[in-house]
Amino acid sequence: MLSNLEQAITNVLICKQTPDYFNVLREYTDISRLPKANKEKEAPKFLERAMGKYPASGERAGSPLADHVTSINRDLMQTRLDVLMLCTPFAKRFKCPCMCGESLTRERIIHKLNLVDGEGEPKPVG
Ligand SMILES: [Zn+2]
Repeated sequence: MLSNLEQAITNVLICKQTPDYFNVLREYTDISRLPKANKEKEAPKFLERAMGKYPASGERAGSPLADHVTSINRDLMQTRLDVLMLCTPFAKRFKCPCMCGESLTRERIIHKLNLVDGEGEPKPVG
């Protein structure tokens, strides 16, 4: 029995597409049984929670879907961090994109969430 998250990724794969945040969210929203009225608002939260917990149990750790979940989740966190940095370019600390509530430096966030540190550190200005 596949979870909604697994089913959503599987649906994307069946369509011969590479699972990313947007196409998986679309499928996830379709198959989730959330109340219709606020489905589009709630689905991203549920998807993110499901991805954060995945793989929930040992037997799924080696699942080929786990790699997709990891990469989708990482892209989402990376994008959020990029947006935070664009909006508050002079901040020393940023609210951690995984919504844990922590306020961390960019380096700590990259380390904690296992993100890729693009081109390395930009040179300090001034
Ligand atoms: Zn966090």
